Amino acid sequence: MIEFDVKLADQRKPAGEREALLADPGFGQLFTEHMVTIEWTKGEGWHDARLRPYGPLALDPATKVFHYAQELFEGLKAYRQPDGSIVSFRPYANAARFNISCDRMAMPRLPEETFVQALELLVDADRDWVPTREGHSLYLRPFIIATETGMGVNAPSARYLFCVIASPSAAYFSGAIKPVSVWLSTEYTRAAPGGTGFAKCGGNYAAAFVAQQQAVEEGCDQVVWLDAAEHRWVEEMGGMNLFFVYGSGAEARLVTPPLTGTLLPGITRDSLLKLAPDLGIPVSEEKISVEQWRDDVASGALTEAFACGTAAVITPVGRVKGASGEFVIGGGAMGATTARLREELVGIQYGDKPDPHAWITKLA
Ligand SMILES: *Cc1c(COP(=O)(O)O)cnc(C)c1O
Repeated sequence: MIEFDVKLADQRKPAGEREALLADPGFGQLFTEHMVTIEWTKGEGWHDARLRPYGPLALDPATKVFHYAQELFEGLKAYRQPDGSIVSFRPYANAARFNISCDRMAMPRLPEETFVQALELLVDADRDWVPTREGHSLYLRPFIIATETGMGVNAPSARYLFCVIASPSAAYFSGAIKPVSVWLSTEYTRAAPGGTGFAKCGGNYAAAFVAQQQAVEEGCDQVVWLDAAEHRWVEEMGGMNLFFVYGSGAEARLVTPPLTGTLLPGITRDSLLKLAPDLGIPVSEEKISVEQWRDDVASGALTEAFACGTAAVITPVGRVKGASGEFVIGGGAMGATTARLREELVGIQYGDKPDPHAWITKLA
């Protein structure tokens, strides 16, 4: 276990001010009073683990991350429980995925226990910032950047900084849950075989903004990514995985695209694949093409579609638009199976429902 040097902020925000900020936190706008940093140097490994006041990082303009984007991140939430304690949802799964991303980006692995220890320290120091309002949570953002100075490109950085910051947040898509409209991107590709699609690296997002802008220009909320070779097979929606509901009521079953290496292996996706069978909803991982999506909606076989991820949990997809036209799913409203899965998952996360898979981990 690595030893953390703990230095708390000299002055904490008065409770009244904090409560005013927590009344309307937005998403990823407001940050708590502390952060965790751990450094890694070639030959020495991980060292200088610190909990310190939140604040700017001073970096040389020639630092590698600015030029070659050797960076990756994680995202998970801390939830206030009915008894006041604070938990997270499958943090060891995030720690494991972080290391898989590290391997791909030629960055050093961080021991899973250290990853979770960093979350515990930060949440404990800033526990008053964990929202108590329904649907709100503390979004945790661990990330790692290449901090070696110099612009050589023959080797990965010899120095890194791991950092965790925390952001009290309201629901990701504000207001009542309303289905999103999506634009099928055929001009741009998120990920190709052999690339970084399965790694949670910032570069994937940097390359995605232009397609998201195009989606908005087309009158849609979000972009849906198709496979790189044929622009035919459905992969993901923005930063979320996709599910399709076939049938309805007791006959409902779930289909989601398989993890081919170009999709980000979402922990929400994995959790739904395990949770749905508990509710009597069979699941399968199958490739689905744009034509099949459209035809199965037209025939009535495909009744609902939704996207899932930590930030927005489960978001129904109501309208699908592409170069060759558009179609509406389930009358543009959230379907019953989508609503049921959402309620079940959120219930586990906020401690209102039993946790049969032991996904909840106490942080503070
Ligand atoms: C983070 C992310 C997801 C969702 O992963 P969760 O672990 O469920 O939050 C899906 N797609 C992309 C591209 C992502 O970056």
